[in-house]
Amino acid sequence: MFRAVQPILADESVPVSTPAASLVFTTVLSHGPLTRTEIARRTDLSAAAVTKAVRPLMEVGYLVEDLDGGARAALGRPANHVRVNEGKALFIGIKVTGDEIIAVLTDLCCRIRVARHVPVTERELTAVLPSITALVQELLAEADGFGVRVRGLGIAVSGDVDRAEGMVRYSPFLEWRDVPLAEMVATAIGLPVTVENDVRALTVAEQWFGAGAGLSDFALVTVGAGIGCGLVVHGRVVSGAHGVAGEIGHLSIDPLGPACHCGNNGCVEAIAADPAILRDVRAVTGRPVAGTAEALRLAFDGEPGVREIYARAGAAIGKAIGAVVNLFGPVRVIISGEGLAAYDLFAEGIRDAFAAAAFSTAGQCDVMTCPLSFEEWARGAAATAIQSFIESAT
Ligand SMILES: [Zn+2]
Repeated sequence: MFRAVQPILADESVPVSTPAASLVFTTVLSHGPLTRTEIARRTDLSAAAVTKAVRPLMEVGYLVEDLDGGARAALGRPANHVRVNEGKALFIGIKVTGDEIIAVLTDLCCRIRVARHVPVTERELTAVLPSITALVQELLAEADGFGVRVRGLGIAVSGDVDRAEGMVRYSPFLEWRDVPLAEMVATAIGLPVTVENDVRALTVAEQWFGAGAGLSDFALVTVGAGIGCGLVVHGRVVSGAHGVAGEIGHLSIDPLGPACHCGNNGCVEAIAADPAILRDVRAVTGRPVAGTAEALRLAFDGEPGVREIYARAGAAIGKAIGAVVNLFGPVRVIISGEGLAAYDLFAEGIRDAFAAAAFSTAGQCDVMTCPLSFEEWARGAAATAIQSFIESAT
């Protein structure tokens, strides 16, 4: 049963009709609470411009002011902190993997309020689409309980995704090609829908709410079923002219290496992604190793040859990170993804290969790890919905 489509009324949109207002709102969103002076410093706007941007946002309740009990800055200016009213709007984020669909209901500050998981038994669109709409209906019912409207839905899918067109061009894990997913889901549920590549969605969440907040140049490298990379350059998540920027999984680092599903040999993904590691662990042990958890156990139990496979995978990842750092010189590289469970086994290989590959001062880049669950990927999808909600008003 589907609910009636709710029209979005113009007077209900967030009042960020100028680039300055949008900048102020997103700055408070990712760094708040902030005083007006701090907002001016972070945005390079004048105090008057900040005041002008803040006022309408406060009038409609998207920003609120915490009264600091008489605290006053120099010159008698109020030093009250301004923050985003996180309960003002809700968003839904969905991550579709080959095995399950994860859906989260978040507030305007992208905090997860409710999470749901359903298994994917068939990957065809005709099977996945009803699961997505059913999950959204469930979360819309939860939102009713909060008494707050859901303003947008983000869907994160791995592969080549055209966000502007709302199209999944090619998703290898799902075997989807040229699927107009945004339009199909929007028609079914009557919400604005943003479809984004899953690694870029996670990068948006890290840029606004995570380890990348406040950094103008950073990379997020994800390790697991595939090897992905989200790039933030001059404060913007880069998609590239063809929508496939950051495909470090397909850097061919060994021409004589194993065949990759992309048609090349020795890609990072063909050496260091979960299926590649499983393939090699089965080959070296002669056992029908069922999955990544078992492969990891064998490595930690000291099964001969298995640790070396992880070390080689770590070296491949480290080389790829070295290439990223040499190309655009980020201040930080965040390594994440479900493959992080093997990080202890990867760490030395990553560190040594990165140090060898990074040129000169590029090696000063801060390489850190940040465990993020699949729910965080769904949260990334919600972050793209929040981003679209704000940008649609300008
Ligand atoms: Zn490849």
